[in-house]
Amino acid sequence: MTTSLDNKLIKSAKPEVLLGKSLEELTDWVRQQGQPAYRGKQLYQWLYEKGARSLLEISVFPKQWRESVADYPIGRSTIHYRQIAPDATRKYLLRLVDGSIIETVGIPSAKRLTVCVSSQVGCPMACDFCATGKGGFLRNLKHHEIIDQVLTVREDFGRRISNVVFMGMGEPLINLNEVVAAVHSLNQNVGIGQRSLTISTVGLPGKINQLARHNLQVTFAVSLHASNQQLREQLIPSARYYPLDTLLTECREYVRITGRRVTFEYILLAGVNDLPEHARELAKHLHGFQTHVNLIPYNPIEEANYQRPSQERIKRFANILRRDRISVSVRYSRGLEADAACGQLRTSLT
Ligand code: SAH
Repeated sequence: MTTSLDNKLIKSAKPEVLLGKSLEELTDWVRQQGQPAYRGKQLYQWLYEKGARSLLEISVFPKQWRESVADYPIGRSTIHYRQIAPDATRKYLLRLVDGSIIETVGIPSAKRLTVCVSSQVGCPMACDFCATGKGGFLRNLKHHEIIDQVLTVREDFGRRISNVVFMGMGEPLINLNEVVAAVHSLNQNVGIGQRSLTISTVGLPGKINQLARHNLQVTFAVSLHASNQQLREQLIPSARYYPLDTLLTECREYVRITGRRVTFEYILLAGVNDLPEHARELAKHLHGFQTHVNLIPYNPIEEANYQRPSQERIKRFANILRRDRISVSVRYSRGLEADAACGQLRTSLT
């Protein structure tokens, strides 16, 4: 039997990693190590600006102290594998300290460098069209493991990160606390504006409301993918426990609480959810809603039999929404050739 004292000892025996800590927390830590407070600022700069991977690298620290804390965990992953697609998108398999592998994607353009981060190892949602869900679920990520993904892509490209989207592996709202902590840290410590961060969710009862109460300024996207409950259940198993009406009510509440609009993502699957009647049904749901719709033509995955609709069908779907004054864009995913596009993330090397 373990007592609460044992638990405390177990906890303190395993040092917490340094990445993800605030300037104040790092300052407390250096003080506990018997160092002057200003070393906290130095540590902060080396962790977040220079992307230090070990305390040994921090050349402004006295050599003797550096060597004595050399093994203290910072919380950085290593690049296990990297693949570069013809469109310059880079997909990474990152090995975490416990040996788990996650995927991260770096998507460059002339003006931007967007990082698509994972929030979990795998994903428990098992959406029918998504490769990640087919591989099962292992665990939630800690907030420093999310920050690490951003620093890794920054280092690999040698460029400033402009945007971060929580659209990699996992369902961010299952891991809400760590995701919110990562948002704050990316904002305050890595210097990325909250509006340049996007949280995407398939929706879970009560969770959108919880997120709204954090009052973040992030872009919020909901993976809707269907215009009625029956179709949604067919594509997204968890929809059975979360009626479309309840989801939309929570989204309206989100707009009311945060004053920010909600983006709806709608994957287009030929013959399944891309018919004109689906577009009209969707338009009806979104009438008078402060929103934007992102249509995502399906990216093929091995385990599913769906097809991407023709350009013509995609245009027709978009135009029906536009006629109803709904703001729409069609988002072609980058990185298709490296299996790095939306829905294609899985932790295999093939
Ligand atoms: N679980 C969250 C975060 C993952 S985001 C969510 O569902 O929103 C991944 C985005 O890619 C989602 O909009 C998802 O629905 C979409 N997606 C999944 N599989 C896809 C595929 N095969 N082709 C295109 N988009 C896909």
